[in-house]
Amino acid sequence: MLALRMHGPSDARLDDIPEPQAGPGTVKVRIACAGICGSDLSLYEHPAVPIDFVHPLIGEAGPHVLGHEMSGHVAEVGEGVEGIAVGDLVAVFPMVDDDVCPACGRGETNLCDQGGFLGVMGGGGAFSEYIVAPARNIFVLPEGFTADTGALVEPLAVAYHAVEQSRIPAGGTAFVVGAGPIGLGLLLCLKAMGAGRVVVSEPSAGRRELAASFGADVIDPGEKDPVAYLLERNGGRGADASFDSAGMGDSTFGPAYQALRKGGTTVVVAMYHGPVSSNPAELMLTEKVCTGSYAYTRKDFAAVIDAIADGRLAPMSLVTNHIQLADVLDGGIKTLLGEGRNTEVKILVTP
Ligand SMILES: [Zn+2]
Repeated sequence: MLALRMHGPSDARLDDIPEPQAGPGTVKVRIACAGICGSDLSLYEHPAVPIDFVHPLIGEAGPHVLGHEMSGHVAEVGEGVEGIAVGDLVAVFPMVDDDVCPACGRGETNLCDQGGFLGVMGGGGAFSEYIVAPARNIFVLPEGFTADTGALVEPLAVAYHAVEQSRIPAGGTAFVVGAGPIGLGLLLCLKAMGAGRVVVSEPSAGRRELAASFGADVIDPGEKDPVAYLLERNGGRGADASFDSAGMGDSTFGPAYQALRKGGTTVVVAMYHGPVSSNPAELMLTEKVCTGSYAYTRKDFAAVIDAIADGRLAPMSLVTNHIQLADVLDGGIKTLLGEGRNTEVKILVTP
């Protein structure tokens, strides 16, 4: 079968590899749809793990298959697996955890001592024809789901978890910095989860337009000061919750932190590669909370599936293009790193 594998920095190849086979407790899925994530772009340029890395729970050396947002149909069910049948449309939960450490015991499987990711550090990936995953990573999708919406569960779970971390009250005001795929996902989840006004700051006109069409109050940070705007809109107090989904340093973290009301929460949902400057005195004086949001748990995954099933979340507007697996590198990853940066949101890949 065809699979996009990482051989080194900026060296991904569509290799012909043997089809994986289901074993006891696992399920083989014929991938129907895979989303390209911002982290795939970063993993393409700077792989997270060396090619000879073997994750203790996954147990597979590289070259590792790339891609972790996926839906598909069950092709084979391993011994001892119940409640999953051949032909079921499923979403694959790509995180692995040991289920025994203190974090897992608290239900925080995203913070597991031995956490890992299928499609990043082995265990197959979304940019291929088949994947075999543990049965506990398989979510059977309810009636009404399509392969496309199934592949969007994962990125929306990232946003859903971040909104949970923000503790935004019902009807509260949110401020989202950046309207990339995560920022737009945050906007959809905030609306679905009962936030009131959502202000989005984004320099790209195309992305601002998209955010506005999803019901956001949008501003161009090059034209208006987002902090002044938030204070003005919220009786001088600022936002109840804010999100840095851009990760550009002081220029994005600063406004997210400054635009917050006393006692509000700012959530970092972007990969940072360096420090920012902020004065902790403000934390003491205002009880603002700064936290991060890393991936999601099974509970978040299931909540997103429910929200899509009952129509609270309508994620298809995030999809800007469909391509074939054979074109994933040039038409997908390289496009998103190049001229598609400001025009594409989510590209879906079908084998
Ligand atoms: Zn654990």
